[in-house]
Amino acid sequence: MSADAAHLAGSQLAPAFAPVLPGATLGVMGGGQLGRMFVHAAQRMGYFTAVLDPDPHSPAGRVSHHHVQTAYTDAQGLAELAQLSAAITTEFENVPAQALEQLAHLRPVAPGAACVAIAQDRVAEKTHFAACADRSGVACAPYAVIREEGDLASVRPGLLPGILKTARLGYDGKGQVRVKTAQELATAWQQLGRVACVLEKMLPLQAECSVLVARGHDGQTVVYPAQRNVHVDGILALTHAYEGCLPLALAQRAQAAAKTIAQELAYVGLLCLEFFVVQGPEGLVVNEMAPRPHNSGHHTLDAFDHSQFDLQVRAMAGLPLPQPRQHSPALMLNLLGDIWFDRQGRERAPDWAAVLAVPGVHLHLYGKTEARRGRKMGHLTVTGEHLAQVRASALQCARLLELPALDALASQP
Ligand code: ADP
Ligand code: MG
Repeated sequence: MSADAAHLAGSQLAPAFAPVLPGATLGVMGGGQLGRMFVHAAQRMGYFTAVLDPDPHSPAGRVSHHHVQTAYTDAQGLAELAQLSAAITTEFENVPAQALEQLAHLRPVAPGAACVAIAQDRVAEKTHFAACADRSGVACAPYAVIREEGDLASVRPGLLPGILKTARLGYDGKGQVRVKTAQELATAWQQLGRVACVLEKMLPLQAECSVLVARGHDGQTVVYPAQRNVHVDGILALTHAYEGCLPLALAQRAQAAAKTIAQELAYVGLLCLEFFVVQGPEGLVVNEMAPRPHNSGHHTLDAFDHSQFDLQVRAMAGLPLPQPRQHSPALMLNLLGDIWFDRQGRERAPDWAAVLAVPGVHLHLYGKTEARRGRKMGHLTVTGEHLAQVRASALQCARLLELPALDALASQP
């Protein structure tokens, strides 16, 4: 969709959308930690909440007023969610797009099924990024689509070494294989089950960053500052969120690109764009997007006057979107299930009392009963008046808990 068309779509929708006011019930597809923090934000504003998730112990289901415990495609479950809710959103991108379409016949759904379908499929996602590259000013990594055996032979040698990624259902580095040669590529495609994939050229990353955008039914769009992300073993370990965490010109380019990409989708809701910072003339490459709040935006709960979940609520409900203001520098540290196990592999609770004695620490645990290695159990946000203090506290927490972010924090100036 062109910028004009998206703008028109936004402005045409504006008079038709009556705000859903506090006191009503907001529904969410998915009951993970993102749903839980959405529920907290909605309830704080005076909404009732309804969660659809098959898991009786889902983090969001446990804190919501209503919990519909069915599969995401269960017609009765979807009807019940729609009956309970005045507006519906989603908290994970692999919600079947057809379920969102079904709901959209009954209630306003934001983001819409078409946007979620694009974000679910790396091929569609890259096609959208490429289509708006001229206006966003940011391209994606060179890539090829592999759908069948014959596509392997036509891969340009310039794409190797590369990363083969499944088009659908990948997350946290899962569904990806790094390949150096045509032979390794063929083996990797077999390994991934011969499903539709993209082969991306391996880029020399200097850094990774992301930008959160909120866009309303009327097309009003607000953008958070860009944050810098550090991944360990494919999983986000650490987010830097403060002035100077990225070169200013680069951060502004990422913000502008994220805004354009959201507008060109006629997106409604909270969207996260991930970028690579690379050497050379491009400087910035767009990687992927998530049609929901994002792990790299969790610091907004403690370091901003409006969190990404607050804006998710406002956007889906058709309420005004304020420009969020950061009131503290912040570092966010992810807490994976690994730290629930001692060196002998015995399960035990981390020493929260010691962590909570560190200045500026905000502990967020998602209420997951079973700790597993690699499972996101919670996060810490460290805030403070000065960045030096924030760094010192984050380093102390990383040491206490032996977090994977430790190396990245310790090597900071
Ligand atoms: P997901 O987050 O869905 O698992 P990503 O596409 O974000 O998948 O890839 C995970 C991580 O792998 C990225 O954050 C980055 O560190 C690394 N990565 C992905 N694509 C490339 C690439 N083309 N070049 C270099 N590193 C990459
Ligand atoms: Mg990613």
